[in-house]
Amino acid sequence: MIELLAPAGNLEKLKIAVLYGANAVFIGGKEFSLRSRASNFTLEDIKEGCDFAHKFNAKVHVTTNIIPHNNNLEGLKEYLISLEKCGVDAIICASLYIMNTALKYTNLEVHVSTQDSAANVEAINFYKQIGCKRVVLAREVSLTELKDIRSKTDMDIEVFIHGGMCSSYSGRCMLSNEMSNRDANRGGCAHSCRWNYDLINGDKKINDGNYFSLASRDLCALKYIPDFIDNNITSLKIEGRMKSTHYIATVVNAYRRAIDEYYKYKTIDYEKYDYMIKKAENRLTSIGFYNGDPGVNEHLYINFGEEPSQEYVGDVLDYMDGYMIMEVKNYFTIDDTLEIFSPKEELRNFKITEILNMDNEKVLVCNHPNEIVKIKVPFSVLKYDFVRKL
Ligand code: SF4
Repeated sequence: MIELLAPAGNLEKLKIAVLYGANAVFIGGKEFSLRSRASNFTLEDIKEGCDFAHKFNAKVHVTTNIIPHNNNLEGLKEYLISLEKCGVDAIICASLYIMNTALKYTNLEVHVSTQDSAANVEAINFYKQIGCKRVVLAREVSLTELKDIRSKTDMDIEVFIHGGMCSSYSGRCMLSNEMSNRDANRGGCAHSCRWNYDLINGDKKINDGNYFSLASRDLCALKYIPDFIDNNITSLKIEGRMKSTHYIATVVNAYRRAIDEYYKYKTIDYEKYDYMIKKAENRLTSIGFYNGDPGVNEHLYINFGEEPSQEYVGDVLDYMDGYMIMEVKNYFTIDDTLEIFSPKEELRNFKITEILNMDNEKVLVCNHPNEIVKIKVPFSVLKYDFVRKL
């Protein structure tokens, strides 16, 4: 079965990704990883994450994908050996030096990062020849090219299926370095392409009240799942280690259900899963490069901002005697209708009849983020379920 690979910026996100259906997660350690600003994993966290994932037959991949300079090399061998001891299944790297060190001193699977922009079969076979197990294809490869590559190599191939795109060749960009002194290839991308800009022609501002952005739309390749499965692709990657737990649960679960449906019925209810994804996706999406070079519909010329979902109102912490214990994330009131989103169940909803605070006093309005409340529910719920307002 094709692997569904999910991002995890911390231990809680790792657990949620696995519970909501990921076959593997990718995480960043404290060293040698891009996204250095994510709340990256300590070695203890990595060990705990591996133990948890392995209990559910899921794998853990650790990113070691910086483009290292001389002063980034110290301690690499020891770090890779520590990862192996923690139970890590694979590392994702872009540097030949890091690949070579892992292949020489550990039994970790080596996956070639998309940072290497592998877009042709000769490059892929080179990585195979030196001992790498998998290539994460460049996001700039079309579906036609992907099929051609697949027909010419038996290398494990991972492709992106959902998440943020880079306007440059996957991180090969100096915009962030230029605008904010943060190196995109050493984990510091400030997403300067998504900032608000004025558009000037000569000395005339022509953006007419709207700000202009240089960003790409996010990728959503839901409709290509049959092509990926039928062409024996190894893994489908969701991007976004910085995204929220609600986003990860929602997107992972939609793809999990869509993939399972295709294996079972050879068909997918795209509308249903697209609707599910949109409950958490807060940026416009497109099909990226899968249909060839992107056109205007793949860019985000006008920046619409990234408002978090207002429907998502809380996390279930526990269930006791007909009440769910819930951490509030967004505003809701008594008489609202809430929807419970769980890993395995279909969506369930109910009208709120009673809210209590932890002193068992009645509450009418919940508007304090992170406040813990008890809400009467007509069915049982579980920790790691999410609550949305309909
Ligand atoms: S600033 Fe934008 S284009 Fe540049 S590396 Fe970051 S995401 Fe890519």
